[in-house]
Amino acid sequence: MYHSAVWREPLLNELEETKKEKYATKSMLPDSLQRKTSLDIPNLDETQVIRHFLRLSQMNYGIESGIYPLGSCTMKYNPKICEDISRWEQFALLHPYQDETTTQGTLRIMYELEKMLCEITGMDHFTLQPAAGAQGEFTGLLITRAYYEHKKDFNRDEVILPDTSHGTNPASAAMAGYKVIEIPSTKEGTVDLEMLKKVLSNKTASFMLTNPNTLGIFESEIIEIARLVHEAGALLYYDGANMNAIMGKARPGDMGFDIVHLNLHKTFSTPHGGGGPGSGPVGVKEKLGRFLPVPRVLKKQNNFCFDYEYPDSIGKIKATYGNSSVILKAYIYILLMGGNGLKETSEIAVLNANYMKKKLVDSTLYQLPYRQLRKHEFVISCEQLLSTKGIRASDVAKRLLDYGLHPPTVYFPHIVKEALMIEPTESESKKTLDEYIDTLLKIAQEDPSLVKDAPHNTAVQRIDEIGAVKNPILTWKNIEKLNEIHI
Ligand SMILES: *Cc1c(COP(=O)(O)O)cnc(C)c1O
Repeated sequence: MYHSAVWREPLLNELEETKKEKYATKSMLPDSLQRKTSLDIPNLDETQVIRHFLRLSQMNYGIESGIYPLGSCTMKYNPKICEDISRWEQFALLHPYQDETTTQGTLRIMYELEKMLCEITGMDHFTLQPAAGAQGEFTGLLITRAYYEHKKDFNRDEVILPDTSHGTNPASAAMAGYKVIEIPSTKEGTVDLEMLKKVLSNKTASFMLTNPNTLGIFESEIIEIARLVHEAGALLYYDGANMNAIMGKARPGDMGFDIVHLNLHKTFSTPHGGGGPGSGPVGVKEKLGRFLPVPRVLKKQNNFCFDYEYPDSIGKIKATYGNSSVILKAYIYILLMGGNGLKETSEIAVLNANYMKKKLVDSTLYQLPYRQLRKHEFVISCEQLLSTKGIRASDVAKRLLDYGLHPPTVYFPHIVKEALMIEPTESESKKTLDEYIDTLLKIAQEDPSLVKDAPHNTAVQRIDEIGAVKNPILTWKNIEKLNEIHI
């Protein structure tokens, strides 16, 4: 070994002494706060520490390990160059309160991204402030509230949404102070126009819709829906989480939507998980522009600046100006892909989803309720597996882990029993799709006891989910209780 112990020992001792001196003189902590006993942590060398953390990272599963086919929230193509550029210190080290003359590049990127998103969605103005889709929804609903207050129409306190909507939709509506009215879908899995007509009134502020919806079905009656909503004097809100199904093909603005949010981290490349990082820009039609959050980014002659002079604005939604690294990645991604690239992304996403769907449905092992033609995602049911073999959607999901595959979303949307919600995305190869299909078919034909006890090959076996819900341990103070629980 190069590090011979002969000269290493004295060197280490010397290092220890220097450290002691350094910390002894530098400690500013009052005596009462200083540690009296030595720190109880393992004494490991560099190699051991590296191996420990590398092993932990290998137990993780990410988009770089394999397919990750969660519906809507799917992580798709995340080009490495977006990551690289967003870490350039010219961007990463900017201070939010730096003088505008020194941040012209970033302001220009924000200004141009707003314009690109207007073009992609068919809206007139955008704000990049909200830090997630859910915060975009909340922003959109505050804009809705401001709009009616400005019109002195104080009667509208209801928000309507279909039973396929994402949980954040009713939550955002309730947070913005609205009553939530949920309407059931038709046998086709789309908005029930008769039902919608019944609940629309002069109390309706907004109808919130995802299109294609969370079943992956395009709301083909959208023009009529928009007409009905507007006839009732209400606004039509677009949840853009599924925008990657229609980019370059159709625009919510042309369908009649008044307010749109996008999830940049879903549709326009940013690896995300466990809640972030995200960005949920909101676009509006001309008549709603005056209510957007401040500051807005403006171009004056050849300079870019923040503008706060919007007296009707709902105010600030987020500190500084949004999640700038996600904004930057979306900008680079759109430039890289170009208009045709975005269109092709949607086309391949739809093709891949329908390929997988067809093979699974043809097997008759899984069922596909509602209309058969899907966009970028589909929701199959394990109902028959449950009735014939006692295998539930959650069992299939856990068994997929044994094969090294990330499971799809389970039990959503609620209107499909024993639901598996699959979005393969445009960025997976046919080979990967075939492997996933084959594994799903294989699991459906396996011995049920093997599936119901899965996973068998993972670091953590089946966890006691009911125990975790009934007996939550939410603070480290009760950590000893963990030992009593089977995990
Ligand atoms: C992900 C998602 C949301 C919420 O977006 P976040 O960015 O996670 O806050 C809303 N609606 C749909 C349909 C979604 O898939």
